[in-house]
Amino acid sequence: MAKAKICDRCGAIYQDNLVSKNCKAIGGVTLCDKHDIGIEETHKDLCDDCLKSLDKWLQEGSKEHHASKKV
Ligand SMILES: [Zn+2]
Repeated sequence: MAKAKICDRCGAIYQDNLVSKNCKAIGGVTLCDKHDIGIEETHKDLCDDCLKSLDKWLQEGSKEHHASKKV
């Protein structure tokens, strides 16, 4: 049985992540250095709701970028 995790963003307690990319469940985010190597101290466990928010934020940024390019 998976151990309970606490979301580092909203504090929600959850068992397991169901959100996936390329058939792999996502467990959170880690910032990378300029060589694309994950910096361990920056890892954040995220619940599915926060992962969905992150995905939405990434998608919206793309729209804003394209919108500002046209101006
Ligand atoms: Zn969360």
